[in-house]
Amino acid sequence: MNKPELLAPAGSFEKAKEAFIYGADAVYCGTGALSLRSRAEVNNEELAKTIEYAHSLGKKVYTTINIYAPDNVYDDIKEQVKMLDKLRVDAIIVSDGGVVDIIKEIAPNIPIHISTQANTLSSHTAKFWQKNGASRIILSREMNKNDIKNLINNIPKELETEIFIHGAICWAYSGRCYLSDFLANRNANLGDCAQSCRWAYNVYLEEKNNPGNIMPIEDDQNGTYILSSKDLCLIRRVPDIIDMGITSLKIEGRLKSEYYVASIVNVYRNAIDDYIKDPKNYDYKKYLSELNKVKTRGLTEFFFEDKNNKDYQEYEGKQYNPEYEYGAQVIEYNENKSTIKIGNKLTVGDKMEILIPNKIEVKEFTIDKMYDVETDEEIETVNPGKLDQSVKIKLPIKCKEGWMIRRKK
Ligand code: SF4
Repeated sequence: MNKPELLAPAGSFEKAKEAFIYGADAVYCGTGALSLRSRAEVNNEELAKTIEYAHSLGKKVYTTINIYAPDNVYDDIKEQVKMLDKLRVDAIIVSDGGVVDIIKEIAPNIPIHISTQANTLSSHTAKFWQKNGASRIILSREMNKNDIKNLINNIPKELETEIFIHGAICWAYSGRCYLSDFLANRNANLGDCAQSCRWAYNVYLEEKNNPGNIMPIEDDQNGTYILSSKDLCLIRRVPDIIDMGITSLKIEGRLKSEYYVASIVNVYRNAIDDYIKDPKNYDYKKYLSELNKVKTRGLTEFFFEDKNNKDYQEYEGKQYNPEYEYGAQVIEYNENKSTIKIGNKLTVGDKMEILIPNKIEVKEFTIDKMYDVETDEEIETVNPGKLDQSVKIKLPIKCKEGWMIRRKK
């Protein structure tokens, strides 16, 4: 059984660091306006730092140039490719055939991964991309498991495959959508989506011959969320996915927080490793219960089992987990008083959970005392008033820098 790569989003160096602490094998990030996540771009200096850090751990960094590019941006693309080559990036994620050609010409040693935006649905298209220089295909999210199996069985062994296993999905066909452009003047196809499909809408019925007589349909005080999709979650299907021989399992969310990245990566790291160690006893429920502590919307398996699945819309617009929130991050461990950077208001008596890398079980504890980092005086409450607000507490186990602590609300 081949162990697949676990690939995490990294909208910043700090997020990449968290992803690696919690077990990601590789991260992907955007590079300037040439990526489809222009708001989650990593500047060149940060990218260089991320790549150097990843390589020191034996891990990888992929970057995106996955816009559909008009002629007037090709000079920028050439410069970007030269810079990525110098930084020794491990692959570039691309959608457009023109960009593929430029990479082959300028930096033939950089592996090319075909973005999910290119909507590869068949072994024919996968082979086309391989002939044209691709080493990996990020499959279309609209495929089910039989489509994926069929594709893998009909492509050369050395052609790698990658699928999304967790995170937001589009109401439209994989990002081919003008809703955000139309409503917010922000173009999803240039990486600037305002996620207009998640907004609350009022829906009315108006009879054509009786203008002005407007009748609302099925909405409550929040309006209605008829366009909002649930989040993809394939934790139950990890055994199928590994058995199929998919090369890389990808988590969506370059705009998500460090806490989110750490939590989701840790769950999938454990799920993959546990299944490989002991395939007969894979029990997805313990992983799902951890994912449920951080989910932002309802979860769906989308089309993985069944293309006729209709359970992927979040009509209630549920956005936040009501029971848990980000608490703090360990800055420096000390047996008696560890320094933690807080993410939300903390008060003596709060119930907390430490996320332990490579372990699905969290360590629960209650804050019994807190100390001001500067004066060392005992305090009752601390608010995230200023940037990097820290406090000292006693931690129940030995922790390392970067470990995440969750707060039970
Ligand atoms: S508005 Fe929604 S469906 Fe359209 S691209 Fe953005 S996230 Fe996808």
